[in-house]
Amino acid sequence: MTSAPSRRQFLLSAGSLLLFSRLNATVRAFAQGERVLVLGAGMAGISAARTLVDRGHSVTLLEARDIAGGRIRTDTSFGAPVDLGASFIHGTKGNPLVALANRFGVATYDTDREEALYVNAAGDLLSGSVVSQAQREFDALFEKLLALKRGLIRDKSVGSAASLLLKRVRQRRGAAIGDLVSFLARSELGIEFGADLNQLSLENFDEDESFSGPDLLLKPGYMSLVDGLSEGLDIRYGQMVRAVAWSSSGVRVTTASGVFDADRVVITLPLGVLKRGDIEFSPGLPSAKKTAIAKLGMGVLNKTYFKFPAAFWQTGEDPVGYIGNVRSGGRNQIPEYYTLDQAVGVPIVFGFTAGAQGMRFEQLDSAAITTAAMNSFRKAFGTSVPEPEMVMQTRWSSDPYSYGSYSFVPVDAKTEYYDTLARPIDNKVFFAGEATHRAYPGTVHGAYLSGIREANRVTRSFS
Ligand SMILES: Cc1cc2nc3c(=O)[nH]c(=O)nc-3n(C[C@H](O)[C@H](O)[C@H](O)COP(=O)(O)OP(=O)(O)OC[C@H]3O[C@@H](n4cnc5c(N)ncnc54)[C@H](O)[C@@H]3O)c2cc1C
Repeated sequence: MTSAPSRRQFLLSAGSLLLFSRLNATVRAFAQGERVLVLGAGMAGISAARTLVDRGHSVTLLEARDIAGGRIRTDTSFGAPVDLGASFIHGTKGNPLVALANRFGVATYDTDREEALYVNAAGDLLSGSVVSQAQREFDALFEKLLALKRGLIRDKSVGSAASLLLKRVRQRRGAAIGDLVSFLARSELGIEFGADLNQLSLENFDEDESFSGPDLLLKPGYMSLVDGLSEGLDIRYGQMVRAVAWSSSGVRVTTASGVFDADRVVITLPLGVLKRGDIEFSPGLPSAKKTAIAKLGMGVLNKTYFKFPAAFWQTGEDPVGYIGNVRSGGRNQIPEYYTLDQAVGVPIVFGFTAGAQGMRFEQLDSAAITTAAMNSFRKAFGTSVPEPEMVMQTRWSSDPYSYGSYSFVPVDAKTEYYDTLARPIDNKVFFAGEATHRAYPGTVHGAYLSGIREANRVTRSFS
């Protein structure tokens, strides 16, 4: 940190030759260590910093919170580690996070949906035959959406394309299967992207890539990967970035409590934060990047955790159970739950809410959330279901250091915007983070890989 002049003075470069020469002096001093600032200590920032430090660069991470991890946050107040942000390593084959978990000796659980329960509005369990028929209908609907996408002249929402198809399924197959297919569409397409179906672009539908193999949960929580990767890194906490400026001589980052000069900067701040426009960029972001920031969507996925005195749900052999609350009806009803008792040894359940409903949940108090959840649990599992001992609601869209959960491509936006967001400026300012990874947006592995990608670019920029 320097006690250099204010950012405003720095920007007025025409009249600030003296200040510029002072910056030049600072940067020259740093140049021997090829000094890099990384903004944000989430997975992208940490992977960028780790890669650069391992190559001998001198790196400082500036983080607004008092803890690393960003949208990875493991809480232990329930008596077992539970993840308030990312939970799953999505896919095992080729996923670099699996290698990381092995490297740090982190135990994982395979999860799948073989033991999924689907409960209808009356609280009745749907039969295996209804579930498998609905799954086949959903797979067919997915293929039809892809065909509609191929013939598209003008972009429209996945929701508008799906609604007619869903209506037909219902007419053909009846209410029970129709309801479950609609539920699967909302769950697999909407909750997955943290958005409502009528927000998602059909033209860009299913453009991202994924790793095959099961999803994994990390036994000690996702923070175990952050802890392993960040060991020994220079992370300055409580440093809320307010301005980023660059010139031919170097970069200057102003935080709420200091000014930092370096040769390069890697910006990993979440799309939600960039969208707010509270950070001043000088001489200014290119207009294509501004468009990408404005047009990409920041989705909302929230979790509600419940800890019960005992498990009242059927526990199977899978470490994680799934309960789909089909046609949940009420606005405060959580559509899907995961049971964790087998995995963590404590009777914990968590539910997902996404899009508009996820945002609404941020306004609800814990009593309203609990009443609605208990209503549906008691319908499905009987009146003896006990009250929860603890309830915790995440509020990612109100989080001032994320303003949302992860990115998605809305109607009239393009997947290319992810590449635009990733494009460096003047070989000095670099961008990483989940919303800069076109193949794997919205994921921890996307964030991780984007950090390595930018570290490589930074190293090349010095040669
Ligand atoms: C509820 C939820 C569930 C999810 N589930 C999964 C999952 O199961 N699997 C999966 O792969 N992904 C999941 N994700 C997505 C995944 O968590 C993110 O894609 C990934 O963690 C993003 O990493 P990042 O480094 O790009 O951003 P972040 O982790 O957000 O890191 C950015 C950092 O910048 C800091 N920051 C913000 N503003 C400032 C500022 N002004 N100054 C300084 N620092 C600042 C933040 O505090 C943060 O530490 C989930 C996300 C959420 C919210």
